[in-house]
Amino acid sequence: MKKILNYINGELKAPLAGNYLDNIEPATGLAYSLIPDSDAQDIDMAVAAAKAASAAWANMHYEKRATIIEKIAAGIESRMEEFVMAESLDNGKPQWLARQVDIPRAVHNFRFFATGIQHFSSESHYMEGLGVNYTTRRPIGVVACIAPWNLPLYLFSWKIAPALVAGNCVVAKPTEVTPYTAYLLSEVCIAAGLPKGVLNIVHGLGSKIGDVISLHPDIKAISFTGGTSTGKRIASIAAPMFKKLSLELGGKNPTVIFADCNFDKMLKTVLRSSFENQGQICLCGSRILVERPIYEKFKMAFVEKVKALTVGDPNEEVNLGAIVSKNHFEKILSYIELAKQEGGTILAGGNALKPNGRCENGYFIAPTIIEGLSINCRTNMEEIFGPVVTIMPFDTDEEVIAYANTSEYGLACSIWTENLTKAHQMADAIQCGIIWVNCWLLRDLRTPFGGMKSSGVGREGGWEALRFFTEPKNICIKY
Ligand code: NAD
Repeated sequence: MKKILNYINGELKAPLAGNYLDNIEPATGLAYSLIPDSDAQDIDMAVAAAKAASAAWANMHYEKRATIIEKIAAGIESRMEEFVMAESLDNGKPQWLARQVDIPRAVHNFRFFATGIQHFSSESHYMEGLGVNYTTRRPIGVVACIAPWNLPLYLFSWKIAPALVAGNCVVAKPTEVTPYTAYLLSEVCIAAGLPKGVLNIVHGLGSKIGDVISLHPDIKAISFTGGTSTGKRIASIAAPMFKKLSLELGGKNPTVIFADCNFDKMLKTVLRSSFENQGQICLCGSRILVERPIYEKFKMAFVEKVKALTVGDPNEEVNLGAIVSKNHFEKILSYIELAKQEGGTILAGGNALKPNGRCENGYFIAPTIIEGLSINCRTNMEEIFGPVVTIMPFDTDEEVIAYANTSEYGLACSIWTENLTKAHQMADAIQCGIIWVNCWLLRDLRTPFGGMKSSGVGREGGWEALRFFTEPKNICIKY
């Protein structure tokens, strides 16, 4: 069976204790590779390598750093199809999605920040005749990047790229659920000539090595994307050590549909915003709030479209592939049961599926629509992170603002209306870090990305990321 290895100090390395975990293909339920079950010694070795590489990398001319990062982008691009297959195999997402979205975006992340660092500048403040302040922005040193499984290489590279271009050395932990493309990235980094120790990728269980990373005194900042409870745990350890933290956490995003919207465009996009990547995108809209005059029309059209979605082998041209893991599959099904107990009516889906052939033991769930739940029930308050949405009618602007904001989360919202004033008012009133009007997941990598409330602390993207990964120092000179 294929063995995935750690990437430490420029080399592919077996975990020091020699232990491995099975890596399962979610479409079949079968193990297809082994991944390192790393422990504290592997993390220590990675941090030591990063520390040793720090001064040289931080002091390398930014154009030279950018050239190496651009080579990483080109390296992934040149192995595009291999990365696509690996991401789909590991995650269960349809190959077309990895080909259209995940891997091109990972390439773009490296390229975007390799270019961005060449335009990143610090400030000076002139004090009329008295003196001048200038602010330097230097790398932090050794930083950790921890990523989830839903968009594995996409989100992993979204953190690593700005950390590296800004001159930091990185200890990165991909999720144990989808480690494969991070492993391929190590091979690309070696081929691109990334100096040894600058990036170290340690595989293994978050429950085993997560705390070791948070506690490590030589790791000065942590950029984390994942669940809110994991974010809480990291903050509880790292905040008292005064580590810089960027936390991108869970969501329970509202989709707000007004009666005057462009119905056809809305329907097409809401289908995606509900079920793309099996609903496993932190930005998916899982609470669909529809203005009453078009509620029945929306319901009928949406149910018809959702029932027509195809689910099955990710290697085929299906709309939805497999759920990422057995644990997650069972969690989603338990939420569907909970929704029924809470009085919900299943309008579409609601069940697991068993595609014929090689996928009969895989983890598949039919895209599910639930109606008739209260806004405050658990199904509507807790993050399910699967192909499950609820639909609810509303009557007034005040009501829908209150519904949207009831959640402890505040990541993203999409609003559908042709009324410009209403769009602005809603965008202002809804407590989310990202608001889309008449669109969803229309991304500009320069914009601040992140959530409010329990959806996170800090922002990623553009200058926000480069500011996070640098330490400002102000120098004041009196004339
Ligand atoms: P998770 O929190 O279980 O795991 C995320 C990462 O943290 C993994 O690499 C895991 O190994 C690691 N980890 C686990 N325990 C740790 C610990 N104690 N210390 C340090 N690291 C630890 O999340 P997941 O199940 O992989 O991902 C799904 C979650 O991610 C959802 O809640 C989703 O909303 C969220 N997410 C958020 C965003 C965003 O941008 N806000 C994007 C994608 C996913």
